[in-house]
Amino acid sequence: MAICFDLTPEQEEIKRQAGEFGKREVAPIAAEIDEKDEMPWDLIKKMGQPPHRYMAMYIPREYDGTAWPILDICIAAEEITYTSQSAMAGMLMEAPGLAPTTILAGGNEEQKKKYVAPVARGEAFGAFGLTEPGVGSDASALETVAEMKNGKYVLNGRKRYMSFAHAADWGVVMAKTDPSRGARGISAFVIEKGTPGYSVIEKVPTMGCRGHQDEEVLFKDCVLPKEQLVGEEGKGLKYALSTLDETRTTLAAGFVGLTRAALEEAVKYAKSRHAFGHPIGEYQMVSFSLGDIATEIEAARLLVYKAAILSDKKVKHSAETASAKAFASQLLLKATNLAVEVHGGFGCTKRHPVERMFRDARTWVFAQGAPYVQRLVNARSLFPELTIR
Ligand SMILES: Cc1cc2nc3c(=O)[nH]c(=O)nc-3n(C[C@H](O)[C@H](O)[C@H](O)COP(=O)(O)OP(=O)(O)OC[C@H]3O[C@@H](n4cnc5c(N)ncnc54)[C@H](O)[C@@H]3O)c2cc1C
Repeated sequence: MAICFDLTPEQEEIKRQAGEFGKREVAPIAAEIDEKDEMPWDLIKKMGQPPHRYMAMYIPREYDGTAWPILDICIAAEEITYTSQSAMAGMLMEAPGLAPTTILAGGNEEQKKKYVAPVARGEAFGAFGLTEPGVGSDASALETVAEMKNGKYVLNGRKRYMSFAHAADWGVVMAKTDPSRGARGISAFVIEKGTPGYSVIEKVPTMGCRGHQDEEVLFKDCVLPKEQLVGEEGKGLKYALSTLDETRTTLAAGFVGLTRAALEEAVKYAKSRHAFGHPIGEYQMVSFSLGDIATEIEAARLLVYKAAILSDKKVKHSAETASAKAFASQLLLKATNLAVEVHGGFGCTKRHPVERMFRDARTWVFAQGAPYVQRLVNARSLFPELTIR
């Protein structure tokens, strides 16, 4: 097996363009997005338009997408998050993958043309609804039901954390069509904004990743024609989990980008801030800790790239993705905490971006699966004969 650490000229260009976009379009408004807790939709529009077309990356060419390899998306996601110093930019590099990829995994031609292609063209946005008030990590226990009545599905239940749901043109939601079958009784549905019985009932402000909005969604006797079922009944969770294997990888790439941003700020400050007659960077407690982060960034990126390369080769990579996300999330928490530490009291003020990065990190690591649960996946692969819980 050949190992090469060089990016191709095309990948270098992807990296350069993403870095420029993050610096020019996101960095100047990152603090404002956080403060207002609002996503500027013209930013999403810009991301969807040429030459970047970041909304089209996960989508095949036959549905107007640009079909980037997952590795290339990771390169762009890391760089845009790094230069913008914004978790929101990273989220916008994985969010357009979530709902469309679930439809691509199981949906029919008509659904792909009707719902997925407009996302690729930058004309629409899809939200993803798996988490519920009573259920997060253990998705198989979800409680939203879709009952067949008079040839139509009737949905009742709630979703929590359905990011961007209020603005999305449609959503993919997971609901139980056969509650007696656990995970195998879960089906996926595509539901359009404005469908009677489907409403966003609350936007709950979060400590970090502000702007994405923790949206609580209600289904109350929400009637859906059979055509809104994605793929086969009982396969919804399978479609959702296969999607998460891709988007968790690109999400972890964003974690690496935000870690680099935190490290850069900390190094800059450690060079300029003096205490006891020396720059604080001369104290080994500071410089060694920062040096460790630099090493771990390299390790995290290699884990991300390995999961991405396996994904692009269509090789099963759930364990590698879990490792990459678990490692990158722990590193992000450690690095942003250290960045605040190095800035002292100043790091806790709104005058410095490390304060926001710290809050973003604390929130963001839960997206698409809590870090402990990613570690659980790794532990289970070591002890197949034991019940690791
Ligand atoms: C920024 C952000 C965006 C999000 N966007 C979406 C979205 O668009 N759509 C969507 O559906 N969801 C979304 N989520 C929800 C996210 O997927 C869940 O938060 C995540 O899956 C964890 O579920 P939970 O928060 O309910 O935690 P729980 O599952 O209740 O877990 C609570 C704690 O228990 C731990 N735990 C649980 N089980 C185990 C175990 N077996 N072993 C050890 N520890 C365990 C967890 O690690 C965690 O620390 C988003 C979350 C965030 C933060």
